[in-house]
Amino acid sequence: MIRIDNLKTDPKKDLMAELYKRVAKHLRVGKEEILSLKILKRSIDARKKPAVFYISSVVVEIANEERFLQNKKIKGISLYQEKIYRLASEIVSPVRPIVVGLGPAGLFSAYLLALAGLRPIVLERGKKATERYKDVQAFFDTGVLDPSSNVQFGEGGAGTFSDGKLQTGVKDKNGRNRFVLKTFVEFGAPEEILWQAKPHIGTDRLIQVVSNMRERICELGGEVHFNTQMTSLLIREEKICGVRGICRGVEREFLSPHVILAIGHSARDTFERLYEQKIPMKAKEFAVGFRIEHPPEMLDRVQYGDVYAGILPVSSYKLVGHPSEDRGVYSFCMCPGGYVVNASSEEGHLAVNGMSNYGRESGNANSAIVVSVGAGEYDLDDPLGALKYQRKIEKAAYEAGGGRIPQQLYGDYIAKRTSTSYGAFSSCHKGKTTFADLNPIFSQEIREAFLGAMDLFEKKIPGYSREDAILSGVESRTSSPVRIPRGEDFMCEIKGLYPCGEGAGYAGGITSAAMDGIKVAEALISALN
Ligand SMILES: Cc1cc2nc3c(=O)[nH]c(=O)nc-3n(C[C@H](O)[C@H](O)[C@H](O)COP(=O)(O)OP(=O)(O)OC[C@H]3O[C@@H](n4cnc5c(N)ncnc54)[C@H](O)[C@@H]3O)c2cc1C
Repeated sequence: MIRIDNLKTDPKKDLMAELYKRVAKHLRVGKEEILSLKILKRSIDARKKPAVFYISSVVVEIANEERFLQNKKIKGISLYQEKIYRLASEIVSPVRPIVVGLGPAGLFSAYLLALAGLRPIVLERGKKATERYKDVQAFFDTGVLDPSSNVQFGEGGAGTFSDGKLQTGVKDKNGRNRFVLKTFVEFGAPEEILWQAKPHIGTDRLIQVVSNMRERICELGGEVHFNTQMTSLLIREEKICGVRGICRGVEREFLSPHVILAIGHSARDTFERLYEQKIPMKAKEFAVGFRIEHPPEMLDRVQYGDVYAGILPVSSYKLVGHPSEDRGVYSFCMCPGGYVVNASSEEGHLAVNGMSNYGRESGNANSAIVVSVGAGEYDLDDPLGALKYQRKIEKAAYEAGGGRIPQQLYGDYIAKRTSTSYGAFSSCHKGKTTFADLNPIFSQEIREAFLGAMDLFEKKIPGYSREDAILSGVESRTSSPVRIPRGEDFMCEIKGLYPCGEGAGYAGGITSAAMDGIKVAEALISALN
């Protein structure tokens, strides 16, 4: 098979037909000689607007491929070798590892353990994705929060009610990233995530994908206990021997010398309990801010130009600014065609985030704009310092909106006055909203950093700081407030305890959390071998 890179095609034309033409021309053969053609990657190049192109890498099957590879006149081709992720071979062991949390990290570690024949026991405080979906809808409609079943907690973890963006900056020498994407496809995700430069699944599809994966874990002999919250670790002589859990008021012990802790970044009660149990942990720096909404046509026109806006998929952006030396400000979790969601998980506290369906058809684009925080805001020497700060600003957001998502137009935020109506476009959100002044939530320093960055972003995307851009507060779950350090064997100081995923500070998104789950499962399997 031959790989060919940098094939430019016109987005207005049929992609596959154009690629066949381009490949035939590149290799100087007739189209009929191409036995098969598969897209490996496709991105959009809009740097030379008004001309906009798809740039693709493809792999083609063709007879006698050596003649092309050896022809020095044909540029940009190479022999194609797929990076195959090697699964651990099955082992026979009486040990059944415990996995706490069924987010991407727990899901993938449990899946790998199940494939290795280890029949993991999974505890998840929330419900199955389909039941969880009903609770989340009820919360959006009524504002009544179920602290165990919400946008953060339940099957699939925080990633289930998300945009389902799957790109990651984590290096993939061993094919783990590709394995994650292929596994998602095997369990129902659209195949295009294998070749899109910015793959995305969407909440509507993710719900089915994570349920299918869990069913497979159970078919392989694993057990999943929903509505079961780990309340403490069972530790003897610095070694883990299991966990204590509670299911509908009934306490129960689950015993095992291997426990993967994949609890995500929002399980504050569990972090507090781990701290009481003297599990070593540190406060982390993270970032806080607001979610901002814009009409997508404005962004599409800026990024693609007038000719291609509306033809290409809704555009996304990534913005970074340093309005002052000590503060970084950046866009986070941009959701083209998405909704601002009430992503709270604690009574009396309010956090927002963004989600989209597969079709990204909401009508608005949203993204968080967040400012880095740390020593200036809380005591970094207090392991729970960042967590306490998160709670403080989420409480302030809850109070500002009386329990609803507090919103303010950008122009009114600058003028410190409560908005009275939307401007040229309305908000696309899930959960109840109200207008409120967002200024009291953050310090003057954070406000200045945010405003300074908005001026910088205006230069990159004209219209970005328009007066009627809609702010929603507060974006506070950008990453975990703690880190649970682990050694090269992936265990923390307690032997047999494997901190994993975003909650432990080793991931920052769906794919990186899934990849970390895989790494931890590999370490556990090799410890048993
Ligand atoms: C609304 C929203 C949108 C997002 N959009 C994206 C996106 O588009 N792309 C992206 O890459 N990332 C996105 N993220 C971030 C992403 O979801 C997380 O990075 C990822 O889910 C982290 O995976 P995890 O497995 O480490 O933790 P989590 O997904 O948080 O999973 C942890 C699980 O542990 C369970 N749990 C916690 N404590 C206990 C306990 N004591 N006992 C039993 N179970 C417990 C929780 O219920 C939860 O299901 C989004 C997050 C949110 C909230």
